[in-house]
Amino acid sequence: WYLFLPLGMVFVFCLLCIVLLWRAWRQQRRLEQFRKDFTYSMIHDMKSPLQTILMGTQMLESGRLADKPEKMEKIGQAMNDECVRLLTLSGRVVMLTEIERGELQLHPVRMAILPLFNDLVTKFRLKASKPVEFDVVCSEDLRVTADPFCLQEVLSNLVDNALKYSGKEVRIRLSAEVAAGGVLQIKVGDNGIGIPQNQQMKIFNRFERVASGSHTTGASGFGLGLNFVWQVVQLQGGTISVKSTEGSGSVFTISLPL
Ligand code: ADP
Repeated sequence: WYLFLPLGMVFVFCLLCIVLLWRAWRQQRRLEQFRKDFTYSMIHDMKSPLQTILMGTQMLESGRLADKPEKMEKIGQAMNDECVRLLTLSGRVVMLTEIERGELQLHPVRMAILPLFNDLVTKFRLKASKPVEFDVVCSEDLRVTADPFCLQEVLSNLVDNALKYSGKEVRIRLSAEVAAGGVLQIKVGDNGIGIPQNQQMKIFNRFERVASGSHTTGASGFGLGLNFVWQVVQLQGGTISVKSTEGSGSVFTISLPL
C-alpha cells in the first residue's frame, strides 16, 4: 500500500496533466483556425467594395465621363456607399476584437429609453430610401442602467436590418417594458421577409448570412452585425432572442437587467 498509493497518485496526477495539456492544445488550434477563417472572410468581403471603388476611380480618371454629370454622380454615390460599408466593417471588427480581448470599456449610466427610440426614429426616417412607418411603445419614465453608445449601436443594427430585410413598405415597431423577473425587454419588430426556422440561431454567428434573405432583398452586408449585437448585449449582462415567420416578419427581443 505504501508503495502503490503514492505511485497511483502520481499516475492520476500525470494523467490529469496530459488531459489538461491536450485540451489547451485543442483550444489553441481551434482559436488559430478561427483566426484564419476570420481573416480570410474579412479580406474576401472587402474585395467587392474595393473593386467598385477602384472601377469608379479608374472611370473618373479616364476623363470619359467629363460630359456625363449624371453618370458621374451615380458613380460617386456608389463609391461613397462602398466607403461607408468598409468603414462600418472596420468599426465592427475593431469593436469585436476589443470585446474578445476584454478591452471594450463600458460606461453604464442610468438612461431613459424613450429618447433613444425617438433618436432612432429621426435618424432612420432620414436614412431610409423607402417609406417606413414607426410604431413606438414605451413609457416616458422607463429607465435602464446601460452604456448609451453601445445600446444605441445595438438598436441601430436591429433597425437597420429591419429596413434592409423587408419589402417596399416597412413597418417597424420599437417597444420596451418591464417583464416578469424585473428585466427590461426591448423589442424591435418588423413586417419583413422573416428568417427560416433552421437559420434563426445561426444568424448570431460571425459572417452568417441567410442566402435567401440577401437574394430576395439584394441587401449587402458582412454578417457581422448580429454577432456584434449578441456580444454587446451579453457584455451588459443581457440576452437576445428572435422570433420570426418567413414572409411575415421578425421580432428581436433584448432582455437587460434593470
Ligand atoms: P448582415 O445584415 O450584414 O448580413 P447581420 O449579422 O446583421 O449581417 O445579419 C445576419 C443575417 O440575418 C442577415 O444576412 C439576414 O439574412 C438575417 N437577418 C437579420 N435581421 C433580419 C431581419 N430583421 N429580417 C430578416 N432577416 C434578417
